[in-house]
Amino acid sequence: MKASARAVVIGGGVVGASVLYHLAKAGWSDALLLEKSELTSGSTWHAAGGMHTFNGEANISRLQKYTIDLYREIERLSGQSCGLHPNGGLMLAATPGELDSLRLICSRARYLGMETEMISLGEAKNLNPLIDTSHFIGALWRADGGHCDPSGTTQAYAKAARMLGASVERFTRVQSLAQRRDGSWDVLTDKGTVHAEHVVNCAGLWAREVGHLVGIELPVLAMEHHYLLTEDIPELAGREREIVNTTDYAGEIYMRQERRGALIGTYEPHGIAWSPLKTPDDFSMQLLPDDFERLAPYFEVGFKHFPALGRVGIRKAVNGPFTFAPDGNPLVGPVRGVRNYWVACAVMAGFSQGGGIGLVLSRWMAEGDPGQDIISMDVARFGAFATPKYTSIKVPENYSRRFRLAYPNEELPAARPLRRSPIYEQLKAAGAVMGANFGLENALWFAPPGVAPSETPTYRRSEAFPVVREECLAVRRSVGIYETTNYGKYEVTGRGARGWLDRVFACRIPRPGRLALAPMLNPAGRIVGDLSMACLAEDRFMIVGSGFAEEFHMRWFWEAQPPADVLVRSSASTLAGFSIAGPRARELVQRLVREDLSAGAFRLFQVRETAVGFAPAILTRAGFTGELGYEIWTTPDYFAALYEDVRAAGRDLGLVHFGGRALSSLRLEKGYGSFNKDFRPDFTPGETGLDRFVDFDKPDFTGRAAVLTERAAGPRRRFVIMEVTDADAEVVGYESITKDGAAVGYVTSGAYGHCVGKSLAAGYVPTALAREGTRFEIDVLGEMRTATVRLEPLYDPQGLRLRS
Ligand SMILES: Cc1cc2nc3c(=O)[nH]c(=O)nc-3n(C[C@H](O)[C@H](O)[C@H](O)COP(=O)(O)OP(=O)(O)OC[C@H]3O[C@@H](n4cnc5c(N)ncnc54)[C@H](O)[C@@H]3O)c2cc1C
Repeated sequence: MKASARAVVIGGGVVGASVLYHLAKAGWSDALLLEKSELTSGSTWHAAGGMHTFNGEANISRLQKYTIDLYREIERLSGQSCGLHPNGGLMLAATPGELDSLRLICSRARYLGMETEMISLGEAKNLNPLIDTSHFIGALWRADGGHCDPSGTTQAYAKAARMLGASVERFTRVQSLAQRRDGSWDVLTDKGTVHAEHVVNCAGLWAREVGHLVGIELPVLAMEHHYLLTEDIPELAGREREIVNTTDYAGEIYMRQERRGALIGTYEPHGIAWSPLKTPDDFSMQLLPDDFERLAPYFEVGFKHFPALGRVGIRKAVNGPFTFAPDGNPLVGPVRGVRNYWVACAVMAGFSQGGGIGLVLSRWMAEGDPGQDIISMDVARFGAFATPKYTSIKVPENYSRRFRLAYPNEELPAARPLRRSPIYEQLKAAGAVMGANFGLENALWFAPPGVAPSETPTYRRSEAFPVVREECLAVRRSVGIYETTNYGKYEVTGRGARGWLDRVFACRIPRPGRLALAPMLNPAGRIVGDLSMACLAEDRFMIVGSGFAEEFHMRWFWEAQPPADVLVRSSASTLAGFSIAGPRARELVQRLVREDLSAGAFRLFQVRETAVGFAPAILTRAGFTGELGYEIWTTPDYFAALYEDVRAAGRDLGLVHFGGRALSSLRLEKGYGSFNKDFRPDFTPGETGLDRFVDFDKPDFTGRAAVLTERAAGPRRRFVIMEVTDADAEVVGYESITKDGAAVGYVTSGAYGHCVGKSLAAGYVPTALAREGTRFEIDVLGEMRTATVRLEPLYDPQGLRLRS
């Protein structure tokens, strides 16, 4: 075994082999993979090998397409067959909601360049004659996908990697990891020590244990999973082409042809976690005992929906474990606090995702950036809240929903309520319907007396629609209160704070008493944060951003290496807040504050530390609704008192609660984008319009060279708000925007603008088309609707109310 390597990849399943290949391809030809047993001996060898491009996140879909397309490349390079059966995929819907979901997938696929279409049940039956179509109402067909040979595919990656100079050591167990002062690693194995600059945890079923080697607890858990292989099926005899791989959402079943028989698998509702505390060291090339009694009712549904399968015998049953993160997407990237330690684990669809994961991780390691937005599979989307208990509850929930189509207004119930603000119970009593963001409960809307505080999952307008409308109108008419505790909050202090922030953020750093909108860029000049920064004193700053990105941003700050005289802390659990917005907001807040808040005395983007009622607080004049607004921040111990004070002060002013849904509507009426929806690391300041907050004159900040280049050339595309012809559904995100039949852009978010009376979509279109009145078409749940660009905010275009 070699004594040193640029990177050591721990684990030789399909993911580790792909990471090794991609590192070698990126030029790290001395990368070394260590595998404690045979390649594939964890969860890889017994997989069903199914591959597809379906994922709720467009960027992950695109990486899945990359993975599938890559197989021909590694076959060519290695001479090893991946055993490809590129027979495509069918998805069957049994309910109108499922049908809407398939239509949305279709609309999204157009911009992603994937061949996908809604087909009749008759056509579906031609592609898979085993379907009993009487159980379904619609079908989607896609060209991408099929199945491959798990072992052949892993070997092909490994051989291709070796041909590029990388090495593989089998039967070599990593026992511990010791970090040197320079951040490099001594990787201690049962065959000796390797010195490596970087290590990558691709340990699959043992990812948790390889996390423990560096003292971290990854939110990953293995579940048992069954599939069956049938005897030969007479209906398949003599067919020239394999049947198309089929997913039956109603039955929670997947099935495909395997030789002259079929393979059928199920994701049952009460799945069993495997080895929840510790994965056995000696588990290698093993399966688990069958549990037919438990699974029979679910396979029975499959035999009803695909009757020919029930008429033949079962040749073999497979029960094997594989790992999941709490939301079912992989955990990829660097881990805050542990230099040069990377993860690529919790990959539940290794044959759809392994290639894409290898690609982005190798770029991240070799070039310092994954090259595209991958937040939805970034390990940093989980924070301290994802404890082992949380993971042990969320993973089985996710498993049970693996084949349930997710509705955009659906909130999953497991492991909730977890993080609660001090006024959680009061908000519930006020009718709050809660969602969870980074483990924290936050109000989505408030059910008034007589309306049930619950919502039917749907792609269309729900019972909440008229209620949200009333919340929006009340904010614009009088004044509303919205809890902002779920925002990400950070404190940056110390003598060097201003200088460090000046390099990390692209904006001008505000003077004491001022607040600035603060884009943060990566070296490629793409948006990694759209935050606000308040200067409380020359050496003290409060930064506020998207709550879900707290760990993502903390990692970013850590990577930006604050010097010894700068302290960066998350205020996630130490600051709680409200937004008070509406034309009567000043009147309300003034009742609680002794200082003069009149328009001339406390202007937009000013900040003060002052008492608000009982609470020592930070008061800013800012907000996200487009109305006169304030944000009030205090510590959790004062928060209930602050809430009572605000409510008492607002009683005769018509104060109403409003939730996240109303906020989404109000912000789009003003044309404000939101981080992780509209603003992501895929986009630049010029494209998003955040360039107006960039201080181009600063001599040095991350991303400067790239934004100067963009400014000179102009952005390729632009973020726009579009008015969509009204129907009973709004856009959700990732629908294709088409012009004369060609997909030219895609939607990033949508909402009904209740105060302007219009269905609104936000998205990106080519710069040349980003003109007032340009008409596009968007396929909204199977219906082509006209979308017209509105360059000026639809509500209060001059910003008079905001500045009033
Ligand atoms: C029944 C079943 C059916 C499935 N069907 C499909 C499917 O149709 N399509 C699909 O895409 N996915 C499917 N999967 C999931 C798929 O198997 C996984 O996504 C994939 O195997 C994950 O690969 P991995 O490389 O992350 O992990 P693993 O395959 O578990 O590999 C991890 C490797 O790390 C090694 N290792 C661990 N610790 C150490 C150490 N300390 N030192 C050295 N080496 C170490 C292990 O020996 C192991 O080989 C299925 C899984 C099961 C169980």
